Amino acid sequence: MRVLLVEDDMQLGQTLETALRLEQYAVDWLRSGEPVRATLRATPYDILILDLGLPGVPGMEVLRQLRADKHTLPVLLLTARNTLADKVDGLDTGADDYLTKPFDMDEIFARVRSLLRRGSGHKVNRLSVADIVLDPVERVVEFQGVGVDLTAREFAVLEILLRNAGRFVSRPRLEEGIYAWGEEIGSNAVEVYISRLRKRFGSDLIETMRGVGYRIPT
Ligand code: CA
Repeated sequence: MRVLLVEDDMQLGQTLETALRLEQYAVDWLRSGEPVRATLRATPYDILILDLGLPGVPGMEVLRQLRADKHTLPVLLLTARNTLADKVDGLDTGADDYLTKPFDMDEIFARVRSLLRRGSGHKVNRLSVADIVLDPVERVVEFQGVGVDLTAREFAVLEILLRNAGRFVSRPRLEEGIYAWGEEIGSNAVEVYISRLRKRFGSDLIETMRGVGYRIPT
Protein backbone atom coordinates (compact mmCIF):
# COMPACT_ATOMS: atom_id res chain seq x y z
CA MET A 1 0.00 0.00 0.00
CA ARG A 2 1.37 3.37 -1.00
CA VAL A 3 0.86 6.46 1.12
CA LEU A 4 1.32 10.06 -0.03
CA LEU A 5 2.11 12.26 2.96
CA VAL A 6 1.94 16.06 2.64
CA GLU A 7 3.33 17.80 5.72
CA ASP A 8 5.59 20.86 6.00
CA ASP A 9 6.58 20.31 9.64
CA MET A 10 9.94 18.57 9.31
CA GLN A 11 9.82 16.82 12.66
CA LEU A 12 6.28 15.53 12.32
CA GLY A 13 6.85 14.59 8.69
CA GLN A 14 9.95 12.63 9.57
CA THR A 15 8.20 10.87 12.45
CA LEU A 16 5.21 9.94 10.32
CA GLU A 17 7.33 8.78 7.41
CA THR A 18 9.40 6.52 9.64
CA ALA A 19 6.44 5.19 11.60
CA LEU A 20 4.41 4.40 8.49
CA ARG A 21 7.36 2.65 6.88
CA LEU A 22 7.78 0.52 9.97
CA GLU A 23 4.12 -0.40 9.53
CA GLN A 24 5.13 -1.62 6.07
CA TYR A 25 3.61 1.11 3.96
CA ALA A 26 5.52 2.62 1.04
CA VAL A 27 5.60 6.33 1.87
CA ASP A 28 6.34 9.36 -0.29
CA TRP A 29 6.60 12.62 1.62
CA LEU A 30 5.98 16.04 0.09
CA ARG A 31 6.73 19.21 2.08
CA SER A 32 4.24 21.43 0.25
CA GLY A 33 0.95 21.27 -1.63
CA GLU A 34 2.16 22.40 -5.06
CA PRO A 35 3.48 19.05 -6.34
CA VAL A 36 0.50 16.99 -5.12
CA ARG A 37 -1.48 17.18 -8.34
CA ALA A 38 1.39 16.10 -10.60
CA THR A 39 2.47 13.44 -8.14
CA LEU A 40 -0.98 11.87 -8.05
CA ARG A 41 -1.11 11.93 -11.82
CA ALA A 42 2.22 10.11 -12.07
CA THR A 43 1.83 7.47 -9.34
CA PRO A 44 -1.13 5.54 -7.99
CA TYR A 45 -1.56 5.95 -4.22
CA ASP A 46 -3.90 4.18 -1.85
CA ILE A 47 -4.31 7.05 0.60
CA LEU A 48 -3.39 10.72 1.03
CA ILE A 49 -2.48 12.13 4.45
CA LEU A 50 -2.79 15.88 4.07
CA ASP A 51 -1.81 18.64 6.47
CA LEU A 52 -4.15 21.63 6.24
CA GLY A 53 -1.66 24.31 7.28
CA LEU A 54 0.80 24.28 4.37
CA PRO A 55 2.94 27.08 2.92
CA GLY A 56 1.85 28.22 -0.55
CA VAL A 57 -1.20 26.23 -1.58
CA PRO A 58 -3.18 25.46 1.60
CA GLY A 59 -4.29 21.90 2.30
CA MET A 60 -7.95 22.72 1.79
CA GLU A 61 -7.17 24.04 -1.70
CA VAL A 62 -5.18 20.89 -2.50
CA LEU A 63 -8.19 18.83 -1.44
CA ARG A 64 -10.57 20.95 -3.52
CA GLN A 65 -8.40 20.52 -6.65
CA LEU A 66 -8.10 16.81 -6.05
CA ARG A 67 -11.83 16.24 -5.84
CA ALA A 68 -12.37 18.58 -8.84
CA ASP A 69 -9.96 16.30 -10.74
CA LYS A 70 -12.23 13.38 -9.70
CA HIS A 71 -9.56 11.67 -7.65
CA THR A 72 -11.30 9.20 -5.38
CA LEU A 73 -8.44 8.15 -3.11
CA PRO A 74 -9.19 8.37 0.61
CA VAL A 75 -7.94 11.55 2.29
CA LEU A 76 -7.04 11.89 5.97
CA LEU A 77 -6.66 15.52 7.02
CA LEU A 78 -4.24 16.65 9.72
CA THR A 79 -4.70 19.95 11.45
CA ALA A 80 -3.51 21.88 14.46
CA ARG A 81 -6.87 23.59 14.76
CA ASN A 82 -9.62 21.82 16.55
CA THR A 83 -12.68 23.76 15.62
CA LEU A 84 -15.94 22.31 14.46
CA ALA A 85 -16.08 24.73 11.51
CA ASP A 86 -12.73 23.47 10.16
CA LYS A 87 -13.81 19.90 10.53
CA VAL A 88 -17.12 20.44 8.76
CA ASP A 89 -15.32 22.39 6.02
CA GLY A 90 -12.84 19.59 5.46
CA LEU A 91 -15.44 16.85 5.35
CA ASP A 92 -17.65 18.96 3.06
CA THR A 93 -14.73 19.42 0.68
CA GLY A 94 -14.29 15.68 0.37
CA ALA A 95 -11.99 14.53 3.14
CA ASP A 96 -12.76 11.07 4.49
CA ASP A 97 -11.46 11.59 8.00
CA TYR A 98 -9.83 14.15 10.20
CA LEU A 99 -7.15 14.07 12.88
CA THR A 100 -6.22 16.92 15.22
CA LYS A 101 -2.59 17.41 16.26
CA PRO A 102 -1.10 16.20 18.48
CA PHE A 103 -2.12 12.59 17.95
CA ASP A 104 -0.73 9.17 18.84
CA MET A 105 0.85 7.07 16.11
CA ASP A 106 -1.54 4.28 17.05
CA GLU A 107 -4.42 6.59 16.34
CA ILE A 108 -3.20 7.52 12.87
CA PHE A 109 -2.50 3.86 12.05
CA ALA A 110 -6.04 2.96 13.08
CA ARG A 111 -7.52 5.74 10.90
CA VAL A 112 -5.37 4.78 7.93
CA ARG A 113 -6.35 1.10 8.22
CA SER A 114 -9.99 2.00 8.51
CA LEU A 115 -9.87 4.26 5.43
CA LEU A 116 -8.01 1.66 3.42
CA ARG A 117 -10.49 -0.98 4.54
CA ARG A 118 -13.39 1.18 3.45
CA GLY A 119 -11.50 1.97 0.28
CA SER A 120 -12.98 4.63 -1.87
CA GLY A 121 -15.39 2.71 -3.97
CA HIS A 122 -12.90 -0.09 -4.49
CA LYS A 123 -12.79 -3.14 -2.31
CA VAL A 124 -9.52 -4.19 -0.72
CA ASN A 125 -9.29 -7.94 -0.84
CA ARG A 126 -7.00 -10.40 0.81
CA LEU A 127 -4.53 -11.88 -1.63
CA SER A 128 -4.26 -15.61 -1.55
CA VAL A 129 -2.20 -18.05 -3.59
CA ALA A 130 -1.32 -21.58 -2.61
CA ASP A 131 -0.79 -21.63 1.19
CA ILE A 132 -0.16 -17.89 1.49
CA VAL A 133 -2.75 -15.32 2.54
CA LEU A 134 -1.74 -11.66 2.60
CA ASP A 135 -3.97 -8.91 3.95
CA PRO A 136 -2.79 -5.63 2.40
CA VAL A 137 -4.70 -3.46 4.87
CA GLU A 138 -3.97 -5.22 8.14
CA ARG A 139 -0.39 -5.83 6.91
CA VAL A 140 -0.35 -9.48 7.92
CA VAL A 141 0.72 -12.64 6.14
CA GLU A 142 -0.22 -16.20 6.95
CA PHE A 143 1.53 -19.28 5.63
CA GLN A 144 -0.29 -22.59 6.07
CA GLY A 145 -2.55 -20.88 8.57
CA VAL A 146 0.25 -19.49 10.72
CA GLY A 147 1.21 -15.81 10.95
CA VAL A 148 4.60 -14.93 9.43
CA ASP A 149 6.70 -11.88 10.33
CA LEU A 150 8.11 -10.15 7.27
CA THR A 151 10.13 -6.96 6.95
CA ALA A 152 8.50 -4.05 5.18
CA ARG A 153 10.32 -4.74 1.95
CA GLU A 154 9.80 -8.48 1.96
CA PHE A 155 6.13 -7.73 2.47
CA ALA A 156 6.11 -5.22 -0.41
CA VAL A 157 7.75 -7.66 -2.85
CA LEU A 158 5.37 -10.44 -1.86
CA GLU A 159 2.36 -8.14 -2.17
CA ILE A 160 3.29 -7.04 -5.70
CA LEU A 161 3.92 -10.62 -6.81
CA LEU A 162 0.64 -11.82 -5.33
CA ARG A 163 -1.29 -8.98 -6.97
CA ASN A 164 0.19 -10.12 -10.28
CA ALA A 165 0.03 -13.85 -9.60
CA GLY A 166 0.51 -15.83 -12.79
CA ARG A 167 2.27 -12.95 -14.56
CA PHE A 168 5.93 -12.02 -14.62
CA VAL A 169 6.80 -8.78 -12.83
CA SER A 170 9.93 -6.94 -13.97
CA ARG A 171 12.72 -6.03 -11.59
CA PRO A 172 12.23 -2.24 -12.08
CA ARG A 173 8.55 -2.65 -11.18
CA LEU A 174 9.51 -4.45 -7.97
CA GLU A 175 12.16 -1.83 -7.17
CA GLU A 176 9.61 0.92 -7.62
CA GLY A 177 7.28 -0.87 -5.24
CA ILE A 178 9.78 -1.30 -2.44
CA TYR A 179 11.64 1.98 -2.49
CA ALA A 180 10.29 5.40 -1.86
CA TRP A 181 11.90 8.45 -3.39
CA GLY A 182 15.36 9.44 -2.37
CA GLU A 183 16.40 6.01 -1.22
CA GLU A 184 19.25 4.31 -2.92
CA ILE A 185 18.48 1.11 -4.75
CA GLY A 186 21.10 -1.58 -4.36
CA SER A 187 21.72 -3.32 -7.67
CA ASN A 188 20.84 -6.75 -6.29
CA ALA A 189 18.21 -5.66 -3.75
CA VAL A 190 15.32 -7.37 -5.49
CA GLU A 191 17.26 -10.65 -5.73
CA VAL A 192 17.96 -10.44 -2.00
CA TYR A 193 14.28 -10.10 -1.11
CA ILE A 194 13.24 -12.80 -3.57
CA SER A 195 15.75 -15.16 -2.03
CA ARG A 196 14.52 -14.39 1.50
CA LEU A 197 10.93 -15.04 0.44
CA ARG A 198 11.94 -18.36 -1.09
CA LYS A 199 13.60 -19.33 2.16
CA ARG A 200 10.45 -18.60 4.11
CA PHE A 201 7.83 -19.98 1.75
CA GLY A 202 9.71 -22.63 -0.18
CA SER A 203 11.96 -22.42 -3.21
CA ASP A 204 9.07 -23.20 -5.60
CA LEU A 205 7.12 -20.11 -4.61
CA ILE A 206 8.71 -17.70 -7.06
CA GLU A 207 9.84 -18.42 -10.60
CA THR A 208 12.60 -16.42 -12.27
CA MET A 209 12.79 -15.76 -15.99
CA ARG A 210 16.09 -14.19 -16.87
CA GLY A 211 15.68 -10.75 -18.42
CA VAL A 212 11.91 -10.79 -17.83
CA GLY A 213 11.29 -10.90 -14.12
CA TYR A 214 9.66 -12.93 -11.38
CA ARG A 215 6.31 -14.53 -10.86
CA ILE A 216 4.29 -16.57 -8.43
CA PRO A 217 2.69 -19.26 -10.57
CA THR A 218 -1.02 -19.91 -10.05
CA1 CA B 1 1.68 22.57 8.79
